[in-house]
Amino acid sequence: MHIKKAKRLSQLPPYLFAEIDRLKKEVQDSGKKIISLGIGDPDLPTPEFIVTRAKTGVSNPANHQYPSYRGIPAFRNAISRWYKKRFNVTLNPEKEVVSLIGSKEGIAHIPLAFVEKGDVVLCPDPAYPVYKISTIFAGGTPYIMPLLEKNKFLPDLTRIPKRILRKTKLMFLNYPNNPTSAVATEEFFKTAIEYAQKYNFAICHDAAYTELYYNDKIQPSFLEIPGANEVGIEFHSLSKTYNMTGWRIGWAAGNPEIIEGLGRIKENIDSGIFQAVQVAGTEALLSNQDSVKEMRKIYQERRDVLLDGLDELGWNYFEPQATFYVWAHSPKGLPSKEAAMKILNSTGIVVTPGVGFGKYGENYIRFALTVDVPIIKEVIEKLKGVNF
Ligand code: PLP
Repeated sequence: MHIKKAKRLSQLPPYLFAEIDRLKKEVQDSGKKIISLGIGDPDLPTPEFIVTRAKTGVSNPANHQYPSYRGIPAFRNAISRWYKKRFNVTLNPEKEVVSLIGSKEGIAHIPLAFVEKGDVVLCPDPAYPVYKISTIFAGGTPYIMPLLEKNKFLPDLTRIPKRILRKTKLMFLNYPNNPTSAVATEEFFKTAIEYAQKYNFAICHDAAYTELYYNDKIQPSFLEIPGANEVGIEFHSLSKTYNMTGWRIGWAAGNPEIIEGLGRIKENIDSGIFQAVQVAGTEALLSNQDSVKEMRKIYQERRDVLLDGLDELGWNYFEPQATFYVWAHSPKGLPSKEAAMKILNSTGIVVTPGVGFGKYGENYIRFALTVDVPIIKEVIEKLKGVNF
């Protein structure tokens, strides 16, 4: 029997990492050690106090039933208190917050609530691929906003044609940015809000990395900017802030109408986050945030060691002020896939080719700082031996 797959699957962009995956397996099978700086998944464990709270949550039979769809009140209150303390943003936990099974889930679902066939969604490139894919799944048309180094990886909104803006329903933004590590200015957010007001579209800001900044340069929330709550929402996550990628917990916050739309899609698709996980997430958000300070110190050291090494190698890179990524130019301007394959083949080091994040990521490679300092030093030594 053959069941024909839906067209939407064939509309997905090609999986660019297949060749890298194949080569990785080959290198591994040949007995060579693999060092992965490829995936943005923290190597550090979830802080112990969060794990302990989860354990008591698991033992409580009240948490064994279907969870509250939009998040237990304690978790939504904790999100609202965290936003107040961290960003001085006031959020009504009833109407302006919805829990998510990781921010990816919300990003994947939001177009279903707002996008019709023929509607445009403004998507950055290079970017986390889900913005474009969720747009396609909802029948919308992604319009690419190139993120260029000469613009510090902020989209130039003046270059979007008016006919596109008139058809736009949503705009995805992400700062601190994956993969470029760029940060946004308040000015940029203000301009984006003006565009959203003028052309009547919603802004979906993905803020997964706000807590991961360097040199004490604290990063803003989009919702801090006057007018943001009238036009947009922010996706956030416990994944990177508390090393909880495996727990699947995040949220969306902001404009109540947009939150309501997303909540309605979710109610009909999923049944919320396991409540023991929500209890643990509540503990994390209400904590004194010392674990986050500790984590920043670790990434700062890793970042500094990698940047010193890249300087030694004579590589060009965009100096990250936030995130745990380093966005470097491919050596000798090689196509990014070729550079990544060469590195993997000769050293066993996995890096991500920039083109995997979109065509404007070509000629860059992304390092994820998800290994410890001695291994980063080993990476630099190995890179010295690659003949590009
Ligand atoms: N947004 C960005 C920019 C990411 O890089 C990621 C994960 O790597 C996510 C969202 C998804 O995070 P999660 O679903 O774990 O909250």
